[in-house]
Amino acid sequence: MKQEDRQKMQYRIPYNIPPLVGGELENMRVACEVNHKICGDGPFTKECTAWLQEHTGAGAVLLTTSCSHAMDMTAFLMDIQPGDEVILPSFTFVSTANAFVLRGGVPVFVDIRPDTMNIDEKLIEEAITEKTKAIAPVHYAGVGCEMDTILKIAKDHHLYVMEDAAQGMMATYKGRALGTMGDFGAVSFHETKNYSMGEGGALYLRDKAHLEEAEILREKGTNRSQFFRGQVDKYRWMNFGSSYLPGELNAAYLKAQLDKAEEINKKRIGLWEEYYELLSPLAESGRIELPTVPEECVHNGHIFYIKVKDLEERSALIEHLGEKGILAVFHYVPLHSAPAGKTYGRFHGEDRFTTKESERLLRLPLYYALSPAEVEEVVKEINAFYKTRG
Ligand SMILES: *Cc1c(COP(=O)(O)O)cnc(C)c1O
Repeated sequence: MKQEDRQKMQYRIPYNIPPLVGGELENMRVACEVNHKICGDGPFTKECTAWLQEHTGAGAVLLTTSCSHAMDMTAFLMDIQPGDEVILPSFTFVSTANAFVLRGGVPVFVDIRPDTMNIDEKLIEEAITEKTKAIAPVHYAGVGCEMDTILKIAKDHHLYVMEDAAQGMMATYKGRALGTMGDFGAVSFHETKNYSMGEGGALYLRDKAHLEEAEILREKGTNRSQFFRGQVDKYRWMNFGSSYLPGELNAAYLKAQLDKAEEINKKRIGLWEEYYELLSPLAESGRIELPTVPEECVHNGHIFYIKVKDLEERSALIEHLGEKGILAVFHYVPLHSAPAGKTYGRFHGEDRFTTKESERLLRLPLYYALSPAEVEEVVKEINAFYKTRG
């Protein structure tokens, strides 16, 4: 069965259930009945923005319609021109590359580290050419990339850094929030992420230099944000732009989750650690590999993945779990091997790990409503599968 078809079926233990922690519907009611404000930049958007700024230490935060849009905005703010190159991993979601391709940029993919599945920082420097404009690290599974090295390379070569921190809410590298270390950072509040507003995201700016331009870009090319702050007496068309601000209903939903951010994070990390502990014997026997979290990183329990022997074994395990009512899923098809990746980008150096490791990776169910007993059940079925394999 294809993964797309599988995801349409009903599972006893699905891969994901969007977070609903209490308070979301009440906030949405307030937006409608009390605030009478359902378009963007109302009280809930302001509260979410303030929360994010305070808890991450970002220089500035703009709530957006998605992480993809936050990254599209970044490519504008970097003034990416046709032919400009951006270095990124091939093992990522399409949006990291699309943001630059939409501006005529060229994604230059480099290999990942097999331990964290993040971009291999040691391979970045040799991929730099005179056309390189930026580095776009992706913090896979909420585990930070080796940012000190990446920031040093960027500084030495005068490159921008955009962190794809879509999966990085509440996670840190050397105590700094993911998404706040590069010039730009983007997080996602899609329903599959730890904190959600259905569709949505945020753009983090490290310093305020790009803030005014970003606000104009987000508000249809107008200085409406300045107008509402009373800084100008009328708002006008200032530059090109589009509409990247989410509606208040989405922000109201998100705010309820930010109010319980610690609780959500603790729950997810607890489930992650339970998987890790219960699967350790199987890892010690050499049948599977477990994720690595470097010492500098505090993760957020976004994804629990295992690595199996190969593609064949992964398909068989997915099949086995599916028969037991458990949905486990894989990703990403490496971008450099996808049709658009071949058209728009290129891979620099050797693909030692990207393809091989992505074919071995399997994500297990992990969501706020999952119970420790269900984790136990998933592990029991994985163990049963390996028994049948001898
Ligand atoms: C989810 C995700 C995105 C896209 O986020 P949206 O908010 O859906 O646009 C981008 N990059 C990575 C690594 C993701 O996991």
